[in-house]
Amino acid sequence: MKDDTVSMPRRASRVDSLVFACPHCGVQARHNRSDLMRVPKMGGMVPVESTLRSPFGGEAWFATACPSCMGQSVWRGSHMVYPHGQVVPPPHPTMPDEVKELYREAAAVAPASRRAAAALARAAVEKLIRIIDPDAPARANLASRITRIRPQVTEPVGQMLDVVRHIGNKTLHGTEGPDDLVVLVLDDIEGPAVLEQLLSMANDLVDQLIVKPATAAGLWKKLPEGVKPRPH
Ligand SMILES: [Zn+2]
Repeated sequence: MKDDTVSMPRRASRVDSLVFACPHCGVQARHNRSDLMRVPKMGGMVPVESTLRSPFGGEAWFATACPSCMGQSVWRGSHMVYPHGQVVPPPHPTMPDEVKELYREAAAVAPASRRAAAALARAAVEKLIRIIDPDAPARANLASRITRIRPQVTEPVGQMLDVVRHIGNKTLHGTEGPDDLVVLVLDDIEGPAVLEQLLSMANDLVDQLIVKPATAAGLWKKLPEGVKPRPH
């Protein structure tokens, strides 16, 4: 994460453009939309959806172009049809394999169910924290496990840990009505980018709690003995 703010897409204020993170280059930008048209044999142009049978007819089909990389995305109504599932960054190479498995599963189901993806993202983060902090009491719940590791991570990652714990829980078990965060992750326009933030936080966690400490320890070992502070 580059700075202390978590960027969220804003709901498009105009129907002819959409603000979202480009699935090709990741840049958050306003994408202009063009309706997808079909040219029938008799000439002229008709909207693609008018020639499709249900369930694909009805909702408008359109393409958006990224002003940053020129990459195209294809939409049906509020669903991105192409490119599927590329919004989510790949798992950190140093992520433990059993966590990677949950991470990839979350990314794979995201286009079909963000509810399932959010629950899997939470499961991935919980597994990761269990591996990182093996000394936590065996029966500790995720909230208290997060409290234990929070001093070791940056504030934005700490905040996202609470967010992923809450969303993963509520999207599945929210009986008393969804709150603002849950509504956001289930929103067709804004949800994919929120889910991306949840998963990329798992990568940040690997970086901050596995990679950086190992690198620092390795370099510290090479410090000349005379330079290291003496143990008291
Ligand atoms: Zn782009």
